[in-house]
Amino acid sequence: MDLPDPAPRDSGAAPVPTDGPLVDRYGRVHRDLRVSLTDHCNLRCTYCMPAEGVPWLAKPDLLTTDELVRVVEIAAGLGITEVRLTGGEPLIRPDVVDVVARVASISGPDGPLEVSMTTNGLGLQRLAVPLHEAGLARVNVSLDTLSRERFAEITRRDRFDDVIAGIEAAASAGLAPVKINSVLQRGINDDEAADLLRWALEHGYELRFIEQMPLDGGHTWQRSQMITGAEILAALREEFTLTEVPGRGAAPAERFLVDGGAAVVGVIASVTMPFCGACDRLRLTADGQLRSCLFARGESDLREILRSDGTDEEVERIVRTCVAGKLAGHGINRPGFLQPPRPMSAIGG
Ligand code: SAM
Ligand code: SF4
Repeated sequence: MDLPDPAPRDSGAAPVPTDGPLVDRYGRVHRDLRVSLTDHCNLRCTYCMPAEGVPWLAKPDLLTTDELVRVVEIAAGLGITEVRLTGGEPLIRPDVVDVVARVASISGPDGPLEVSMTTNGLGLQRLAVPLHEAGLARVNVSLDTLSRERFAEITRRDRFDDVIAGIEAAASAGLAPVKINSVLQRGINDDEAADLLRWALEHGYELRFIEQMPLDGGHTWQRSQMITGAEILAALREEFTLTEVPGRGAAPAERFLVDGGAAVVGVIASVTMPFCGACDRLRLTADGQLRSCLFARGESDLREILRSDGTDEEVERIVRTCVAGKLAGHGINRPGFLQPPRPMSAIGG
């Protein structure tokens, strides 16, 4: 089903299946759960949050590890096969290795869950080996520039060397493939597309560019500042031959073979080329709210049910209802689009 940027509010009561896979009314089967381990972060990327940070979630509201693991177990029973741990910065959760070990020991319909993580890389020098031993399969590390000075400007912290060392630690620990996420901003780092790809190829990392989305805590996103997927591809094609890899499935990244070789580069054009029609993702925030989309304006409260002795069946019912009510698309390009109240850092990117 191809839904380029469908109306987000084409609802009507959605029938809620009582068994079978987590399917919504558009036939999308949900297999990928993104779990935010914290909304806090040790960087302050300009496209993500203001210098002073954002209003943090109240500590007592954060799911305990037992609560989080219970939700993942129930989700695995409903057909989830992949869990991506994220945040905020997931590596600043003190028991992150234990969380990985417990989540990686859960089985879904295809066997043990595949557990990956999106991280800014700052904790990887210390944690890559224990995370790998605990069952983490791979990491996506965010890096937007190869310049130490620009890194400090973009993240408002002088930690470039630590991120590079973290990426190297991930690769040597066997967290493969190491994927690199880059966001380009106009007039800031948009001249680095080809440099980043050359660097990634040299080191055997898989690079993915992400279009900047209207999800920042400071509400500063401007369409004119966003470097589009088309601009990124045009810049890369000045230096490389890119051949589209067919069979994208539910993956957000459109992938291209580089110079006909084994290496690939990805472009996640969430704004200009939405891929909602094949989306199979659900998100659990650090405070126990289930979201069917990054851009959803509504959430389903799992924390309340977990803390009031709710049964697994009651939790399942909420998960199924959340999926059933998922809208056709995010609607960013439609008049009247409203940025969700939660910033990306508090949803889990
Ligand atoms: N702190 C971790 C990190 O930076 O990788 C994980 C959370 S972060 C919210 C997840 C991903 O979202 C990162 O790759 C980051 O670059 C990206 N991101 C954050 N804000 C964004 C925005 N407004 N538009 C597009 N991507 C964004
Ligand atoms: Fe932190 Fe990730 Fe947001 Fe940067 S993008 S401020 S590293 S949560």
